[in-house]
Amino acid sequence: MSLLTLRNLIATYGASQALFGVSLDLAEGEVLALMGRNGMGKTTTVKCICRMIASNGGLSFAGHDLQRLPSHRAARLGIGLVPEGRRCFADLTVTENLMATARPGPWTEQSVGALFPRLGERADQVARSLSGGEQQMLAIGRALMTNPRLLILDEATEGLAPIVRQEIWTAVGKLKHETGMALLIIDKSLKELGQVCDRAVILERGRSVWEGQMDQITPDIAHNLLGV
Ligand code: ATP
Repeated sequence: MSLLTLRNLIATYGASQALFGVSLDLAEGEVLALMGRNGMGKTTTVKCICRMIASNGGLSFAGHDLQRLPSHRAARLGIGLVPEGRRCFADLTVTENLMATARPGPWTEQSVGALFPRLGERADQVARSLSGGEQQMLAIGRALMTNPRLLILDEATEGLAPIVRQEIWTAVGKLKHETGMALLIIDKSLKELGQVCDRAVILERGRSVWEGQMDQITPDIAHNLLGV
C-alpha cells in the first residue's frame, strides 16, 4: 500500500506557478529519490508534502487526505523533514535541539547518538559551534526525534566535505536497512543515490516526467533530464 501519494500536484508562489503536475507513490519502507536539475520543483514538492505551502491536487499520507487537514495535524501524522540548509537552533545545545522536536517512539537522544557518535560526544555544545557536517547530523537527528514514518532529506549532503558526506550516506544506509523507515531523498549525487534508493522520480519544469528503478536511468536520461 502506498504511504505517500501525490497526484497532479500544482503549486504557485504568488503569481508564479512552480508545480504543473507532480505525481508519485512511495510505499512503506521504500527509498525514493526525487531528482531533477536546479529549479525544477523538488523543494517545492517537499514543501507541499509538509504543508508549508498550499497546493492543489491529490496529496495523501497513510490513508489521510493531507489537503483536508490543517498543517499542524499533517505534521503529526509522521512526516519528518530535514530541510535544505539545516536549520537548527543556533544558541541551543545538541541535547536541547533534539529534545525540542522529541515525540514518543523508538528514536531518542541515545539512539540518535548511536547513529551519529559525534553528536553524542557534543551533547552540551551549542549548535552554532558545530561543524557544518555535525549541524547536518543534528538536523537529521531532530527529524528522527519526531519518530517519523517517512523521513525527507532535502540536499542533506550539500556543501559538505567528502568524508562527512560519506558519514551521512552510511547513516542513511543504516536507516534503510535497520529501521525500514520510508525515505524520500533529494541529492545531486547519482552514484550515492543509486546505492541507497529503490526507485526515482524525475521532475522537469514542475512536472514528474520519468519514474523507474535507479538502474533504469540510462546515460541519455541522466544527460537529458539531470544534466549529468
Ligand atoms: P534546487 O535544486 O535549485 O533547490 P528545486 O528543484 O528544489 O531546485 P524549487 O526550489 O522547488 O526547485 O523551485 C522551483 C521553482 O519555483 C523555481 O522556478 C524557483 O525559482 C521557484 N521558487 C522557489 N521558491 C520560490 C519562492 N519562495 N518564491 C518564488 N518562486 C520560488
